[in-house]
Amino acid sequence: MYWERVTEEIYLFTSERYARVNSVAIRTAEGIIVIDALPFPNEAKKIAKFLNTQGGGRFHSLILTHHHADHSFGLFAFPAYLELLAHERCRQKLLALGEKSLAETRRNHPVFDQVTLRLPTITFEGERMFVCAGNHTLRLLALPGHTPDNIGVYLEEEQVLVAGDAVMAIPIIVQGDWRREIQTLQKVKELAPLTIIQGHGEVILRGEVNTVMDRYIHYLTCMEEKARKLLADNKPRDLIWDIPLEACGLERVPLGLGSQQLHTANLFSIYDQLQAEREGKAGLENTAAT
Ligand SMILES: [Zn+2]
Repeated sequence: MYWERVTEEIYLFTSERYARVNSVAIRTAEGIIVIDALPFPNEAKKIAKFLNTQGGGRFHSLILTHHHADHSFGLFAFPAYLELLAHERCRQKLLALGEKSLAETRRNHPVFDQVTLRLPTITFEGERMFVCAGNHTLRLLALPGHTPDNIGVYLEEEQVLVAGDAVMAIPIIVQGDWRREIQTLQKVKELAPLTIIQGHGEVILRGEVNTVMDRYIHYLTCMEEKARKLLADNKPRDLIWDIPLEACGLERVPLGLGSQQLHTANLFSIYDQLQAEREGKAGLENTAAT
């Protein structure tokens, strides 16, 4: 794990063990607020210990951007009495899938035996919720697309957006919806943060935000066009394997996960959704005709 400071009061921790996933801490006069935790117990515990020292043992609360294991498992390392804030959809996802996902992970990595699943204790429905601590205002806002439950945390005073997986070096939508992800990226552009902390990988700095958001939006629309063309030409689904990531304007990134594999999975997911919609429409037309 390595760490850096984004501002005097915002700390960023990045995993060296899993996909450069990020965890963020904000030091406030009322204690430290932690957003997401790194999945591997040794990294999560190291961060909790470090922050405990930095904040003189004072924590304010924990925030979870979405239910995925790489953001949620490490939360066990923080004091059990802390409230965990998330979207209500995140709580529902964890209730439905969390224990199963943890049991599967334990089978492959016994080191996760020490992890206990942490469920959100304060949730919101709809678009936003505000958290105020010291002189910090945190706007929790729904940013669905990567998953339906993903939220971002906008630090109003610093104009820093902690985006969860709504913003990633390669937008991943296989468990979500690319159209919603496009809307979310538009929303992020309108918010116009100075800095974005992505769910994985490096910080998007001042002056880069618009260009990077446009690149991600282009990537998603380009994938839809490619999938639509294959369907319209009645080409085999397997041709998706031949479409490189670069054909949609992104570069391979050192996330520790195969960039091309992530991209191919995205394309299959969009293709299958478009095909289902086409068949659904044809089915409806047939019903109407009879
Ligand atoms: Zn995720």
